[in-house]
Amino acid sequence: MYSDETERQKALRYSRTKEWLAVADMIFGTAVMLLALTTGLSARLRSAAERIAPPRLGTVMPFAAAGMILSSLISLPMSFYSGYVVEHRFGLSNQSMRSWFVDWFKGLGVASVLGAPLLQGAFWVIGRYPRRWWAVLSGLVLPFSVLLANLAPVLLMPLFNTFEPLKDQGLEKRIKDLAAGEGVNISSVLQMDMSRQTKKANAFFTGVGNTKRIVLGDTLLDEFTPDEVEVVLAHELGHQVHRDLWKLISLQMPLTIGLFYAMQRLVPPIIGRFGECWGLRAEEGVRDPAALPLAGLIGTGMSRTVAPAVNAIVRRWVEHPADRYALELTGKTGPFISAMEKLGRMNLADPNPPRLIKWLFHNHPTLQERVEYARRFAAQRGV
Ligand SMILES: [Zn+2]
Repeated sequence: MYSDETERQKALRYSRTKEWLAVADMIFGTAVMLLALTTGLSARLRSAAERIAPPRLGTVMPFAAAGMILSSLISLPMSFYSGYVVEHRFGLSNQSMRSWFVDWFKGLGVASVLGAPLLQGAFWVIGRYPRRWWAVLSGLVLPFSVLLANLAPVLLMPLFNTFEPLKDQGLEKRIKDLAAGEGVNISSVLQMDMSRQTKKANAFFTGVGNTKRIVLGDTLLDEFTPDEVEVVLAHELGHQVHRDLWKLISLQMPLTIGLFYAMQRLVPPIIGRFGECWGLRAEEGVRDPAALPLAGLIGTGMSRTVAPAVNAIVRRWVEHPADRYALELTGKTGPFISAMEKLGRMNLADPNPPRLIKWLFHNHPTLQERVEYARRFAAQRGV
């Protein structure tokens, strides 16, 4: 994939740097939550929210918004180093510092505006159903995930990038013909100004219902041949045909139920044991918003634990079938292989990462596996 050894070394350095930063970020985030909880900072913030916030607004929303803003500010240096400094050092960023900060600010705004009212709603459910809240909330997560998946492409993503119909209409006709031949009605295909932020290339399938769409980065369109774009499109079409977003949402369901149930079982005894030193209200249990960092610790702990399994499921039952679909639909193994190699070079990807890294971070088969699969496919089918 890398004909040039210096370029290969650079890709390996970039990959390892980003992975170490991701691990450091996890440790740091855990430490921040642990400290907020055990130093009584969380309890003090909750009491301040109670004093300051108008009673009609309640305590949860202002507490949650303040907590999110504080923790984002604490991790800002790390986010800046990983998202701006490292990206520039490896020549992958197209963004000015100002534009990076504007995006960071927007991200925080979106998280607070969406997250704080959602948490307020969750606490209302907890207060209303003190024993069965975990089941009620789990039931509500499904419609909310579907709603969010539906709205994100039209409400959230356009805050960061511009989406427009493919400029190359020949290309659009090509994939529509391809899909029509299979009896598939393709969702809209859009291009996005990914080059506003990065030199990396990407394509993805997003949205559910009337907002589902295939999105191609302009960076990819600039560098890929029409045949290469076609196999990438066919991979994304595979996600549409296989209804993969629904698969991912249903994969999320048992995890959500397990998570809420664990919180219901674990938080009250922990508060009973340590709550007093941390300034938590034992009699309120999970209903005390100051216990949110504890819930957060249990939540991140559990999701990190299941992440390798989730990644493996997605690699095997979502991403690999989309590759197979792309090859079966187009029969273009050569362009598939060159597209993968180009994607790897543009994104400074490690084609063959150590197994531990694959387990922890990759929800796609490694580039080497994808290329090897295409070679086997070509050998078997004689294409
Ligand atoms: Zn995919």
